[in-house]
Amino acid sequence: MPTVLVTGATAGIGRACVTAFAEAGWHVVATGRRADRLAALASERVHTLAFDIRDDAAREAALAGLPAPFADIDLLINNAGLALGLEPAQQASLANWRTMIDTNVTALVAITHALLPGIVARKGAIINLSSVAANYPYPGGNVYAGTKAFVRQFSLDLRADLHGTGVRVTSIEPGMVETEFTTVRTGSQAASDTLYKGVDPMTAEDIAATLLWVATLPAHLNINALELMPVNQSWQGFAVHRAG
Ligand code: NAP
Repeated sequence: MPTVLVTGATAGIGRACVTAFAEAGWHVVATGRRADRLAALASERVHTLAFDIRDDAAREAALAGLPAPFADIDLLINNAGLALGLEPAQQASLANWRTMIDTNVTALVAITHALLPGIVARKGAIINLSSVAANYPYPGGNVYAGTKAFVRQFSLDLRADLHGTGVRVTSIEPGMVETEFTTVRTGSQAASDTLYKGVDPMTAEDIAATLLWVATLPAHLNINALELMPVNQSWQGFAVHRAG
């Protein structure tokens, strides 16, 4: 069976992917920082690696030490990521901006760079977690949205470079999924509960099932980008400021 490496497997979409792919018979490498949560996922089919994805040395050492049958990654799911804050840009924390760029962009690029030669050799695939934030601006989106636009464009440009290799690349662009995402963003479980209340948001399992579908499509078929929203989320149009 093929092997998938899932970043950000300790919560939300990543954790649901571990379950979905393991149940479908894949070998899964589950990564994230919270070792206790990873330990709860470990099984014969699931190998866990605890490291901060921004830490070059830790990331490289973890990947170098993978045992068979987990060493040969066929599919990389670049899921680890976060938003921090909802302040307008002129009030936002530069430290938060740097953390989002370091995690969502720089670390994603680094792990992709490390695994890409093997993925090319095995004619594998990469699925990147972008967001609707890549496609539609909203107040407070600023750097988070910018990182997700990078992820979408990087995915499409990878396809151009990988032309003829048989490697598939997909940008997944979800709207509201109830996970720990908003608790991390706001620092408040209550704010998260309020945001999702009555919305019937997408679940981590919805997204994991979509990723498994994308990953198991016939080898000649590439989903370039896929945007998903809960039915109760849509758009509101332009904001117009009037003087006086
Ligand atoms: P989540 O429940 O907060 O999970 C985020 C995961 O990322 C956790 O497993 C976390 O693990 C990991 N992570 C964060 N920083 C890390 C670091 N420095 N090193 C290693 N792992 C790190 O959020 P989620 O909703 O599942 O988000 C998953 C992805 O989907 C993100 O890229 C997010 O931008 C994207 N997305 C989410 C939504 C949504 O509405 N939820 C919508 C669109 C896109 P540790 O904390 O244990 O390290």
